[in-house]
Amino acid sequence: MASRIPSVFVSHGAPTLVLEDIAARDFMAGMGDQLPRPKTILCVSAHWETEEPTVSAAPRPATIHDFYGFPEALYRLRYAAPGAPDLAHRVAELIASAGSRCDVDRDRGLDHGAWNPLMLIYPHADIPVTQLSIQSSLDPAHHAAIGRALRPLREEGVLILASGGAVHNLRQFQVDRERPAPWAVSFDAWLADRIAAGDEQALIAYRETRPEARLAHPRDEHFMPLFVALGAGGGKGRALHLSFAHGSLSMAAFAWE
Ligand code: ZN
Repeated sequence: MASRIPSVFVSHGAPTLVLEDIAARDFMAGMGDQLPRPKTILCVSAHWETEEPTVSAAPRPATIHDFYGFPEALYRLRYAAPGAPDLAHRVAELIASAGSRCDVDRDRGLDHGAWNPLMLIYPHADIPVTQLSIQSSLDPAHHAAIGRALRPLREEGVLILASGGAVHNLRQFQVDRERPAPWAVSFDAWLADRIAAGDEQALIAYRETRPEARLAHPRDEHFMPLFVALGAGGGKGRALHLSFAHGSLSMAAFAWE
């Protein structure tokens, strides 16, 4: 029997992550060695938004270059890991047995929210991987419930890798490259503190309880993957990494063991 795999949330930053000289890149490049090696990976990316939870069963997922106006080198990158159709069906079954609908998409590839971190964490691309979508029309409690439904996967050798942004406001991108804004620092610190305390209630209610929530997440699709990791983790989590990039973009990463 495989040992239990932590559920993990990473902030993926800009699509240029793999090419950048920033602390978060170095952290991710060493992260694979810090975790027990999974058999398969389920990535929950902020860049796949659907009405209903949807999981990809693509046997050979394509690398999707879902961004515009970036350096040509980025469009040549491929992440050639095999897909995980068996895992996809198991995910659909677990979500359905928790009372939610889950669709299976046979073609969907890996978007940059998935392949950008994966290319750093598992550069050999030798662990089968698939993706699960998020529902930006639904709230944190929905995403935490999806995570709870997926918790048994952690005993089955599956790494649940949620990828979004701990603080994600692109309007403030590069406003001040040196110093993150006070509201960003404050939200990031609150987040790390409540995760360490296992305070799921406060985290789920962040829109109501945090005055800087609107600035940290004008839209909250980059925050929703965190709730899937939180639900799959249960209890207290810990910060694996804390830094900012491009001004007020938090690159925080957390694990629930
Ligand atoms: Zn993103």
